[in-house]
Amino acid sequence: MSGRFLSIGECMVELSQAGGGLLRKGFAGDTLNTAWYARACMQPAWSVDYFTALGDDPMSDEMIAFFEEAGIGTKLIRRIKGKAPGLYLINLRNGERFFSYWRENSAARQLAADPDRLREAIEGSDVVYFSGITLAILPREDADTLLAETRRAKAAGKFVVFDPNIRPRLWASYDVMHTTISEGARSSSLVMPSFEDEALHFGDDSIEATVHRYRALGAPNVAIKNGAEGVTLNFAGQQNFVPAEKVKEVVDTTSAGDSFNGSFLAKYLETKDPVASAHFAAKVAARVVSEHGALVAKDKLGL
Ligand code: ADP
Repeated sequence: MSGRFLSIGECMVELSQAGGGLLRKGFAGDTLNTAWYARACMQPAWSVDYFTALGDDPMSDEMIAFFEEAGIGTKLIRRIKGKAPGLYLINLRNGERFFSYWRENSAARQLAADPDRLREAIEGSDVVYFSGITLAILPREDADTLLAETRRAKAAGKFVVFDPNIRPRLWASYDVMHTTISEGARSSSLVMPSFEDEALHFGDDSIEATVHRYRALGAPNVAIKNGAEGVTLNFAGQQNFVPAEKVKEVVDTTSAGDSFNGSFLAKYLETKDPVASAHFAAKVAARVVSEHGALVAKDKLGL
């Protein structure tokens, strides 16, 4: 089987402590991480493309080269004169990670400002992936443009996948966040939330409540991640639970959810079997939390 997978969102420059006051540079962002794991796990006949906006600076060039190296297509990426990618820094304080962000002015904020380009990219894809972070970074009217396109894609029979990835500080208000995330889910074929976030920010008192809320919005399929517990699947009304894998030592949970999503989709698009896909994704995510960093190399994923 073959197809075209498109992930839409923001990738940032990541700076982490390398000792002696030095900083190490990497690239990461939720939708890019998912594209990375989708690419690592998908059959070669599938293409994986990233849709974002970057600048015309050397850092944007480096990022493009990095995507290409990973086998992620870059031909749809918009380049904006005078702009640059967003950036974040991981600080360690007593072993805890704290993040500082410089992303308010990033090129990616304009990724939906050219509606024709966005439509063309989505029309040329079979599977469209986006997140609550993708929606949160956009100006209000551009978020509406993106939502109109994902609704259109779903209506045209494309498989639209949405991870709410709730980050309150990216949103103007709780009200806007609740409404826009609900619209994202409404426009999707599959919603892949994390229960911890949903309980905290939507007040769901059980996984069942999250399943019900997203299905009632019109998402026919949901996969609700719950960390070391496992995943609850409800595909077309059929409910299943798939436990997480046991991990000897959890080293870094960054991108656990993103790696689950990417590997789940790789398997699901091939097999249409949500349970088998969740078992596979639980194995991949278990490897990811056993290693440092958001993007774990393919040869360490045990594929
Ligand atoms: P998010 O990163 O979006 O909050 P979760 O924390 O729910 O997502 O984790 C996503 C997936 O990663 C889980 O469904 C599980 O398969 C795996 N995972 C996360 N934490 C652990 C853990 N401590 N042990 C084993 N698997 C884990």
